[in-house]
Amino acid sequence: MTRSTTAPKSAHPDVLFVAAEIAPWVKTGGLGDVASALPPALAAAGARIKVLVPAYPAFLDAFPNASLFVSLTALAPRLLPCRVLNAGFIAEDVELLLLDAPLHFARAGNAYSDETGQEWADNAYRYGLLSRVAAWIAEHGNRVGWQPDILHCNDWHTALAPAYLHFLGGRTPSLLTVHNLAFQGLYSAATLAELGLPERAFSFDGVEFHGKLSFLKAGLQCATRISTVSPRYAEEIRTEDFGCGLDDLLSYRGAQLTGILNGIDESVWNPATDPALPRHFDANCLELKADNKYALQAELGLKVGDTPLLAMISRMTLQKGSDLLLTSADAFLSEGAQLVILGTGDKVMEGSMRSLAARYPRRCHATIGYDEGLAHRIEAAADIFLMPSRFEPCGLNQMYSLRYGTLPVVCKTGGLADTVIDWNPKAPHPRANGFVFDQPDAGAFQDTVARALAVYNRHPEIWQNLQHNGMRTDFSWAPSARQYLELYRQLLDPTHR
Ligand code: ADP
Repeated sequence: MTRSTTAPKSAHPDVLFVAAEIAPWVKTGGLGDVASALPPALAAAGARIKVLVPAYPAFLDAFPNASLFVSLTALAPRLLPCRVLNAGFIAEDVELLLLDAPLHFARAGNAYSDETGQEWADNAYRYGLLSRVAAWIAEHGNRVGWQPDILHCNDWHTALAPAYLHFLGGRTPSLLTVHNLAFQGLYSAATLAELGLPERAFSFDGVEFHGKLSFLKAGLQCATRISTVSPRYAEEIRTEDFGCGLDDLLSYRGAQLTGILNGIDESVWNPATDPALPRHFDANCLELKADNKYALQAELGLKVGDTPLLAMISRMTLQKGSDLLLTSADAFLSEGAQLVILGTGDKVMEGSMRSLAARYPRRCHATIGYDEGLAHRIEAAADIFLMPSRFEPCGLNQMYSLRYGTLPVVCKTGGLADTVIDWNPKAPHPRANGFVFDQPDAGAFQDTVARALAVYNRHPEIWQNLQHNGMRTDFSWAPSARQYLELYRQLLDPTHR
């Protein structure tokens, strides 16, 4: 399946793409979706990719015939010996490598935490190992028959890899994509030696962050280039408000920092073909969308009818503005709307969402849990999707919503600001596709939902235009993949580094 070519190496780079989760096998959020859809798009744009992930049980079950790629002895005092398995092609020019270290990864629970939501106590070593093995392959792949030109890391779980390359004398250029700056992987200083990094790495211009070892800072400091998942977020994180203490470093590295908007996987998120939906529809037969609403209302015990349906699917956290929903829900429900909530997260917020739903039987429903099929059905059924995020590196749900004719109400931040264009009747934008408020406060959120409900209730023709604008926007991965390929090209050109 691998194409042979006489084109320059930079047109067809070999890339080791490393991530802590990949949908559909293991997903806790947007990273899993991106790690699933971006590599095939990169391959379609010309790269040859191997994706490295930990061999969680779901992967070993799905790929029982994976063959040995390389066996590695302990690479540092607290790093386990491990095997890397080749699970074969998962898309054209995309192969899957599994990091098999059963004591670390063969567990129930999710990638990062146990079944009660408690983070695994050995995460520093689990993701230290993932980073170390990625750096080993990036540097010594020729010993096992595949030498990557570029190492592409994602988020803190893999961000120590560029530090290994830097401090252990590697030469392979690296890209670190930041999907969320708020998760940093902070561990005690003693971890440094256990993970096999030299003492000199523990410095202001190394991996040290306020007296601790920071995986993310290590990557931001040592990766050849940095990217974020939207252009606006790449700007925001250079400021104190959004920089999570890393804004000075990000400003310093500003010339090597790029924002590339995520796309969506249109083979998974397409209302005309989505197998989770009771009724398929597209922009040319939008009237069929309502059948999805009636079916969901019946499924969740809401009153069936043409009532406007609001929805929110997210981790329940301050980042996502779940508290703003809790403060505002009475106002929405008293305006006659219905509300559907799906998510997990902060235990107090989960309890408050349950109580809210109990107070409004047949008008409000909350599912506390993770349910992929329900997420698809909600996207198709809802009229208005709520994303009052305080910050949002990219956000995928607003793009899924736009694709499904569900108009988003969003706070103007990060990728939300880059993808949603406010409907303002005084100065109508020809490509308006939703409703935007400037500051994450409950008053602005409530006013904006009221504005959206007024258009929904009184101006169906405008509503339909906004739906069409959203549904016809190209959110495919192809344009983003071309931008990543350009970054790869620059990584391989020393004059650009
Ligand atoms: P995050 O910051 O959590 O990564 P994104 O909007 O980028 O936010 O991506 C979240 C992804 O996770 C989307 O695909 C969304 O549908 C999905 N998701 C979040 N919570 C749930 C849930 N409780 N059930 C099903 N899917 C969920």
